[in-house]
Amino acid sequence: MSIEVAELELRPVTEFRATAAAAAPLERDGDERTAMRARLIRADAALREGRTAEGGTLAQQVNAWALEHGDTYVLACSHRTLTHFHYYIGDRAGALAHAGQAVAHLGPDDPAAVRVRHLMTLAVVLGESGSPGAAARRYREALDLATAMGDHQQTLMILGNLANLATQEGDPRAAERAIARMTEVRAAAGLTLDGPQLITVARARLAAGDHRAVEEILRPLTQDARHLDSTGAALPEAMLTLGEAHRLAGRYAAAQADLDAARRLARERGLRATEAAMLEQQAALYAAMDQHRAAYDAHIAYHRFFAELQSAQRDAQARTLQAVYEATEARRIGEHYRELAHRDALTGLHNRRYADERLPALLAEAVAARSPLAAAIVDLDHFKRINDTLSHDAGDLVLRQVGRLLTEAVSEPAFAARLGGEEFLLALPGTAVAAAVRTCEALAARLRGHDWAPITGRLPVTASIGVTATADPGVTPAVLLARADRQLYAAKHAGRDRVAADAG
Ligand code: GH3
Ligand code: MG
Ligand code: MG
Repeated sequence: MSIEVAELELRPVTEFRATAAAAAPLERDGDERTAMRARLIRADAALREGRTAEGGTLAQQVNAWALEHGDTYVLACSHRTLTHFHYYIGDRAGALAHAGQAVAHLGPDDPAAVRVRHLMTLAVVLGESGSPGAAARRYREALDLATAMGDHQQTLMILGNLANLATQEGDPRAAERAIARMTEVRAAAGLTLDGPQLITVARARLAAGDHRAVEEILRPLTQDARHLDSTGAALPEAMLTLGEAHRLAGRYAAAQADLDAARRLARERGLRATEAAMLEQQAALYAAMDQHRAAYDAHIAYHRFFAELQSAQRDAQARTLQAVYEATEARRIGEHYRELAHRDALTGLHNRRYADERLPALLAEAVAARSPLAAAIVDLDHFKRINDTLSHDAGDLVLRQVGRLLTEAVSEPAFAARLGGEEFLLALPGTAVAAAVRTCEALAARLRGHDWAPITGRLPVTASIGVTATADPGVTPAVLLARADRQLYAAKHAGRDRVAADAG
């Protein structure tokens, strides 16, 4: 029976219904471990059919069983299913924590084919959490394994994901390379591309400006839902991509019909993240049709929806992380991925939580070594103007680039973090005020001098920076940040695009 269930675990996702049906008797009659593995197959099928809560609950049950019995293989597999669950509810940090565990708990004796799948899952989530480099590494590792095993189906899937990542990161040439390799593998193995892979190719064509190809690739797919059953989100996403192509080709009525159909499906399947993407598309469509009032309303609706989604995500995230890290053995292996949960998804910088956890130790070290810790708060000037006159997306691109420039400006043990919005922190151990001011002035010059034109056109991007430093045992993190904030206020007040510092 364990051989049977092992075979089911490796069936292609496209056959998930048949796989779940074959797993049912094993869950009923098998020994406990086999039953748990079969239950996980049922959980995966539930998630793929859009029964998200049910799938998540089943996966949690198996996860708890595996933890209790110290069964690392089942533990790893349950973490992968929990990754899917968190991914579907739009909780990226939770998904990332589970994906890390799904890889970390696999041992050298577990099947390579399972390792390939877990690496892929981790790569997908890393890619969507603002770590494209880390994602690409996992994809390559998985690609090497799958190629060595001669698993063409899996090789195609990995290449498709690599192409998606490249499209998402604005690297159409890398996307084309991956797609060319997909074509080779497909031809050599005599396989056809499945629904999600066709969406990948369509998106890459869309990014390359070839609207007609998108229509050709996706039209038959959206008319035959069987192709797209393998993931709950694939069909609405295909329609969304088609709608975007129609909009860009000026075929607004067709675009609207695609969007309406996509939104209905996303609602039916409880795909909140996909639904948010629809609202954004709707705003873009109205704007293309010169219906500015409706575009504005749709835009507001999108932001409201997105804010709600984010707060729901934060709650879900808090609950999940707690559940995952409560177990001591999970904590040990999960350290690295917890570190990743301390990252800001948009910029890849450390986040506020990281800063809050790190500052007390840095202050204590400063006191002990009698060597000051400098803190600088960097706040972008008139950032609202960029969002308002260009778009929120343009604002996001600016924030990502600022993140890169901040990362370049500091090196260990100093760090940069995004405190929130367009506000960042530099923490500089062993740095007196004068030296910190020099660093910050160089940073301000670098921000001012960067070529922003491709993102913001003629709008400048500058920052005001407030600096302070201390080695005083009476200074808490809150006091340190308040002092830097006061200097930031002074820099803003004195005309922005400058550095202000206290006496230190
Ligand atoms: P000041 O020079 O006084 O700092 O002006 P400001 O416009 O930068 O400051 P304000 O605090 O009024 O506006 C900050 C804006 O940053 C408002 C908010 O919409 C935007 N913002 C916050 N987080 C994000 C984000 O993640 N992405 C984008 N695009 N905008 C964001
Ligand atoms: Mg600002
Ligand atoms: Mg601000």
